Amino acid sequence: MSLSRFQALDTILNRSGFELEYVDVPDTRISNFFGCNVFNDKAMKEYMTEEAFGNVKLAIQSGAKLSREDADLVAEAMKRWALDQGATHYTHWFQPLTGRTAEKHDSFFQLTPDGKVMEEFTGDTLVQQEPDGSSFPGGGLRSTFEARGYTAWDPSSPAFILELVEGKTLCIPTIFVTYGGDSLDYKLPLLKSQNYIEQAAVPVCQLFDENVTRVITTLGWEQEYFLVDEALFNARPDLLLTGRTLLGKHSPKGQQLDDHYFGSIPERVFAFMRDLETECHKLGIPVRTRHNEVGPGQYELAPMYEETNLAVDHNQLLMDVMDRVAKRHKLRVLLHEKPFAGVNGSGKHNNWSMATNTGRNLLSPGKQPGKNLLFLTFFVNTIQAVYRYADILRASVASAANDHRLGANEAPPAIISVFVGDTLAKVLDRLEAGIDADEAGVKEVLDLLSKIPNLELDNTDRNRTSPFAFTGNKFEIRMVGSSMNCAAPMTVMNTIVGRQLHDFKAELNGLMSQGLERDSAILTILKRYIRESRPIRFEGDGYSEEWKAEAARRGLSNLPNTPDALGAYLRKDAVELFTSSGVFTERELHAHYDVMCENYILKLQIESRTMGEMVINHILPAAVNYQTTLTQNILQLKEVGLPESAYAAQLDIVKRISENINKIKENVEAMTEGRKKANGLEDATAKAKAYCYEVKPLMESIRTFADRLEYLVDDREWPMVKYRELMFVR
Ligand code: ADP
Ligand code: MG
Repeated sequence: MSLSRFQALDTILNRSGFELEYVDVPDTRISNFFGCNVFNDKAMKEYMTEEAFGNVKLAIQSGAKLSREDADLVAEAMKRWALDQGATHYTHWFQPLTGRTAEKHDSFFQLTPDGKVMEEFTGDTLVQQEPDGSSFPGGGLRSTFEARGYTAWDPSSPAFILELVEGKTLCIPTIFVTYGGDSLDYKLPLLKSQNYIEQAAVPVCQLFDENVTRVITTLGWEQEYFLVDEALFNARPDLLLTGRTLLGKHSPKGQQLDDHYFGSIPERVFAFMRDLETECHKLGIPVRTRHNEVGPGQYELAPMYEETNLAVDHNQLLMDVMDRVAKRHKLRVLLHEKPFAGVNGSGKHNNWSMATNTGRNLLSPGKQPGKNLLFLTFFVNTIQAVYRYADILRASVASAANDHRLGANEAPPAIISVFVGDTLAKVLDRLEAGIDADEAGVKEVLDLLSKIPNLELDNTDRNRTSPFAFTGNKFEIRMVGSSMNCAAPMTVMNTIVGRQLHDFKAELNGLMSQGLERDSAILTILKRYIRESRPIRFEGDGYSEEWKAEAARRGLSNLPNTPDALGAYLRKDAVELFTSSGVFTERELHAHYDVMCENYILKLQIESRTMGEMVINHILPAAVNYQTTLTQNILQLKEVGLPESAYAAQLDIVKRISENINKIKENVEAMTEGRKKANGLEDATAKAKAYCYEVKPLMESIRTFADRLEYLVDDREWPMVKYRELMFVR
């Protein structure tokens, strides 16, 4: 009998290291090739006149519209550059709500009406395209007869060339909207939220420094992932179809020994990482750190932080490049939030801050005490924003896959709380407890702040259980899932902090018009915020049961599943926030909500069907076979006249196999019924809840019984690649 599991293991055993293809690192000095596939300033200067380049840069920086003539000039330059690099096609590259990227390739090659052949690419094709959007999720925004959507150039993120096996393609980052201009992607709301926070933050900065005319937000993501051999991956229907294991008994050795975390990187994985980093550097993605993560076979990759829009694009691009590079190494990247039960899941910490055109990080306490009030203002306002809108932030990271992390005995909990570390907690406490906002009080607070040594701040991040932690000079949002588009939580961060800063400034104006001096007025307001937002601040163990109870007493939400968490998007305060800030219209908000529900439903539907197939067509037959072997053995022992005690163990196993088989069959039938019932529901919310509360628990029981069978059945008969093989065979 040939089982795919053993074939897969054989394949790996017989694989020689030499069949792996390695990409040449162009140069050991990264600076010599960094960004060589990007249409960056250097390339633009080379291919455009100084005047045209100046116009384009000005338009990008000021956010003004580029004239058609200038767009034509950019397109011409971009085309010549791309052709010189060997590109044959171009594509508008966009981020539909499916969570990954989409592209539709067109050739530069054109036939003119008089039969001439030429390479063409105009300003019009650069600025706007019309991919058929009908098969991208649109949450009811497009009726079927109006399938058109537009992609529109985002000049703030540079075009790049993607090298594929079949050739090189010029990719132009774009936003994706309906014919009527409604957003159908992650990027447009993000860009709008950036405008919004900038408008709010600049006037606050100008209280301290008139030279501040621009504020951007910055994002540094940390991408966690698992690597699995391609042969093992292909032998598991669940990995192939859902990206995670739906079944599988825990390996006796998992991550208990902590011997993987920061351990030495296996050679094969190292080769993959080196390749991946080279590809990233060519694309201008500034990846810097790599290390093993907690789970066996789990790794992390992190770049230097960048302006948020660019960082989001780079992360989307990275996930794509990871898939491609892994295949070259006969590996598969698992970006799923929880590929293996019982082992650490994967997240994507989003480090977020704000920076000014004068080069100041607004969340850096810095060394100049005189300017620390600026830090304190942005620091406290961010905490207050998270306190006011915690549920919306929670909703932005809700997905079927992330439900296995948040609130499921895994880092971090679904309850949003803010960790600031001892030193800053002390600063906030002192301020709240009674330093008066008079001249002396102001001075005392500033003195206190100036005493925070930077080193100590760097050490504030060791509370790994906090979902939202201040780590020295930025906030680290740890709830984001490994496969997610960072744009969703970033859009929410920008919007809620933007709103908070608006409100702060309005209040400040009020106090100052009553004659209160600037610093005193600021401290008066901050003091109140610190008091109000106290419930969201938590420095303890976020995993503990006591925290759950304590959080409930404090009135904090605990929304451990997606359908419940998503509800926050439709609440009055969310609708008001998003519409008044211009980030979403109410229609868009509902459409995005529907798409999120739909994604959730589809993910669970596919998982549930895959699971049904795996247990009925793979697991049960294996269990029955082994049972037959045992029964024959029992009969033979009986025949030779041995007493029952001689085959008591076999009999017991036969019985237990039967019990588990029956349970599985029962539950699979109930699960199929549950699915049918859920599918019959019209309303997206009701359907998502039905999947969550009716179908998902049955999947969990089926898994329990299937894993018990794995424990009972002969290893040689077991068809599914086992956990120990997935995690430890390399
Ligand atoms: P960790 O201890 O969480 O693994 P790392 O130093 O590996 O921390 O990662 C920190 C991340 O935070 C990096 O991606 C880094 O670029 C990013 N980061 C640092 N400063 C800022 C900032 N001002 N804004 C946004 N991200 C930042
Ligand atoms: Mg981190």
